Amino acid sequence: MSAVTQSCSLMNNYSRWPIRLVRGQGNTVWDEQGNAYLDCTSGIAVTSLGHVPPQVSQRLHQQLDQLWHTSNLFEHPLQEQLASKLASLSGLDRAFFCNSGAEANEAAIKLARRYQQKVKEEWRYEIITFQQSFHGRTLATLTATGQEKVKDGFLPLPEGFKTVPYNDLDALAAAITPQTCAVLLELVQGEGGVIPADRDWVKALVRLCAETGVLVIVDEIQTGIGRTGTWFACQQYGFTPDIISLAKGLGSGFPIGAILAREEVAEGFSPGSHGSTFGGNPLAMAAGLATLETIEQEQLLNRVGELHHKLFARLEQIKQAHPGKVAAVRGMGLLLGVELTQPAADVIAYAREKGVLILQAGPQVIRILPSFVTTEAELDRLAAVLDQAIAEL
Ligand SMILES: *Cc1c(COP(=O)(O)O)cnc(C)c1O
Repeated sequence: MSAVTQSCSLMNNYSRWPIRLVRGQGNTVWDEQGNAYLDCTSGIAVTSLGHVPPQVSQRLHQQLDQLWHTSNLFEHPLQEQLASKLASLSGLDRAFFCNSGAEANEAAIKLARRYQQKVKEEWRYEIITFQQSFHGRTLATLTATGQEKVKDGFLPLPEGFKTVPYNDLDALAAAITPQTCAVLLELVQGEGGVIPADRDWVKALVRLCAETGVLVIVDEIQTGIGRTGTWFACQQYGFTPDIISLAKGLGSGFPIGAILAREEVAEGFSPGSHGSTFGGNPLAMAAGLATLETIEQEQLLNRVGELHHKLFARLEQIKQAHPGKVAAVRGMGLLLGVELTQPAADVIAYAREKGVLILQAGPQVIRILPSFVTTEAELDRLAAVLDQAIAEL
């Protein structure tokens, strides 16, 4: 690994695994030597339909022969279609398209501030976020992120962000001031260790924000587009946020980001107030539309629920079978975490040697993100390898 990394011209900002992947189909990826791996990472919650899903591939090929890029100087039929599809699935009214998760959260933060300052005419700017959260790597979104490691060496950071403990109502209530603009939260903290939000806390948070004129932005970049078994995780928490940010699973691997907002909030953006050259690009829109249609046509939300129950039960069995080694099994849908009592890196490396790819989320947490088209046999293989890996600890 190090020989390759040091001799090539890439910057050294990733700690990469020593695997060079060149092809993928379904839930299998192959390296340059032709070794096959079962992918239970989905490219970090992106390739939810597996690799090179035929419906999306077909749609992209059609679009490749038709039109690639026009800029947002023109109207876009595919943008309008994807926006109205996302609106009807979420219960929100309007969409803005961009190219990544960080960019979606930037847009959400900008929209929240502009709504408060221009529509409500209130001087509110502060964004409250939560410890262990992850919201991206741009300067604003890394400031919003509740983890110190992403901020190291990047000072000075933008003003107007405050981080409080997750699942703690008193801390949130104490942090809200007349200058608070919005709360930004994940309903399952993904990078932070697969930590679901407490249901009563979320209910109280939504009520508190409504009472104090604070917007609720839900970062569904990892949880959205079916990953938790419903289109959006907020639907399982029983509320509709003011703004939702999306990216990862929306394009099946084609880069795309989006925010959705309710009508009044969306009025915060007027012509010229925000934009993106590539945002809403026809290829990305084709990938997004084909992804949503495939999830609907193949009833994959039900499938996520079924796979969740099966995998969660197997992980609980593994926990029972190895007393003292597994601290907790948690998560929603196919965003699952296994918290160990020792470093997770050893289990992940062991699984990789056995040809199964899984992720880490914090020092002692294994994160498992299978695609929605994972077979029962593939889940059995994943569970068997995890069982062996944990036994070896
Ligand atoms: C991945 C992720 C982001 C950042 O997305 P990028 O596309 O890498 O910019 C933001 N929020 C959450 C919850 C994420 O999981």
